[in-house]
Formats: sequence, C-alpha cells, structure tokens
Amino acid sequence: MKAKIVKNDKVMIITGKDKGKTGDVARVLSKEKKVMVNGVNIVKKAVKPNKKNTQGGIIEVMKPIEISNVVFVCPSCGKPTRVGISIAKNGDKSRICKKCKVAVKEQ
Ligand SMILES: [Zn+2]
Repeated sequence: MKAKIVKNDKVMIITGKDKGKTGDVARVLSKEKKVMVNGVNIVKKAVKPNKKNTQGGIIEVMKPIEISNVVFVCPSCGKPTRVGISIAKNGDKSRICKKCKVAVKEQ
C-alpha cells in the first residue's frame, strides 16, 4: 500500500499542544504509525556530558507524533486536506489532493 504521508510533505498538527502548527515531515515511522515533523513536538532533555558535548546540559529533541494527529497540507492549494490515491490504467498509483485534484508529488 502506498503511504499517504511521506518524507518532506507539509503537514498540519490537528490536536495536542502543537495544534495548528505546520512543518515538513522529517521522517515517517511507518511501523509505529508516527511521523517526525521539523520544528514540532520538540522537548528539552537534560544530557550528561559526553564526547560530543563535554558540557552536558539541555538539548532539544524532536519527538514523533501519531500520524492520525497530523493532516496533509496540499502544496498546490495550500489547504489541509486528505490525500487520495489515483490509479492509472497501467497500474501506477499517484497521490492526489482531494480538494483541488492536483497530483501531489513526493519531494
Ligand atoms: Zn490541493
């Protein structure tokens, strides 16, 4: 099955503390049904000093979000939308925006 949300897609968060924020998908964790979105769901984490960071301190870590908590934002019409799958006669599948019907390319 073709994934409806893939890396580099723009998504909007529809629930939780980051509701209404948009960002690009940095990573899709398909097994967990989660996505990592750049700039969203950042938590601060205390780290002990190590080789990379001899001071230790607070670092910011991007946490995955449930894929059901994000909605795809169409690059053509700019609206949060559902992604449809269209199947060509030769069997090729492509993603389309359900609002403006424009094919959505994977970036
Ligand atoms: Zn659209």
